[in-house]
Amino acid sequence: NVIDIINKLYSENDASKEELLYLLDNINEEEKNLLIEKAHETRMRTYSNKVYLRGLIELTSFCKKDCLYCGLRRSNKSAERYRLNIDEVLECVRKGDKLGYKTFVLQGGEDAYYTDDVMVEIITAIKNEFPNNALTLSLGERSYESYEKMFKAGADRYLLRHESASKKLYESIHPGEPYEVRFNCLKNLKEIGYQAGAGFMVGIPNQTNEDLANDLRFVKEFEPAMCGIGPFIPHKDTPLKDYPHGSLEKTVICLAIVRLLLPKVLLPATTALSSIDKNGRNAGLKAGGNVIMPNLSPMSVRKKYSLYNNKAYILDEDAEYRRLTEEKIKEAGFEVEITRGDNPDFRG
Ligand code: SAM
Ligand code: SF4
Repeated sequence: NVIDIINKLYSENDASKEELLYLLDNINEEEKNLLIEKAHETRMRTYSNKVYLRGLIELTSFCKKDCLYCGLRRSNKSAERYRLNIDEVLECVRKGDKLGYKTFVLQGGEDAYYTDDVMVEIITAIKNEFPNNALTLSLGERSYESYEKMFKAGADRYLLRHESASKKLYESIHPGEPYEVRFNCLKNLKEIGYQAGAGFMVGIPNQTNEDLANDLRFVKEFEPAMCGIGPFIPHKDTPLKDYPHGSLEKTVICLAIVRLLLPKVLLPATTALSSIDKNGRNAGLKAGGNVIMPNLSPMSVRKKYSLYNNKAYILDEDAEYRRLTEEKIKEAGFEVEITRGDNPDFRG
């Protein structure tokens, strides 16, 4: 039964696909609370009540891909496009360092402007000025050589959500994009030595609990250093605009299961979670989440980096956001930790 599966997850950090599916299909309110409690206990054992902050810099809204769910997809003619240049990126990084962020995340669409040479120049400049801060990239699929060059230039981590571990569902939301390519990229990132981040969306149209059980098993087997899990949220100018967003409850259940499957994984309480519910972030932290990614992008571009509608905190001022975030984290019983926050299996 569900309680036995939760206890197994807690004591063995494992469960079969069938057990995960049974849990997702049958869990009731009381059992959900038990699952969250166990995930919280596990997090307290590995990371105590610490929450790591990552300053997110949204590098570019140009994208050559056409993911059905995303507002930056190339077919979205209403999307406003921008690119940050090296000086603008450095300005964001300096602002972030002043606010105490020890990790910067450069995220963007797949934009050919950011060649390996351009990226190496940006990475080198950031690392020269801030050698003790960690640098995470999230720029989608690139070649082995490209990932390697950026790693050698000083990038430490790479976030590439696998999005869905069910081939059929993956390919239905990424037309013309083979599922194997994404998985190969993840494998390459790990091999090169990045702290690699996988992850998936909850509530993708037509996603079943079996698909989610596949995602959970994939995460267990791939053992990423980080795992980004957030609800799908519709964007008005995409083909998936009429579908409902993924549920807070199911996202929280997935977060808690991932915390139990991989006690040391770095697990963000995502902005998407806050965007569907004002208590989303706290719910994520209480279910084992231990990372928050505040936005450091210049105010002038924030509305243009539009993946989905109704994004939370979109125009909050950085310093004020920093102060309020820390206050809210404390209220929820957690504490902001001012370190790089590496996965202990990498640089403990
Ligand atoms: N282009 C890179 C990539 O796709 O890996 C990085 C940037 S992409 C915007 C970052 C993440 O945003 C994706 O991995 C996806 O899971 C998420 N995302 C995009 N559209 C979304 C939506 N409508 N709802 C929720 N998450 C979304
Ligand atoms: Fe581009 Fe990433 Fe959006 Fe896909 S999810 S359209 S790759 S920015």
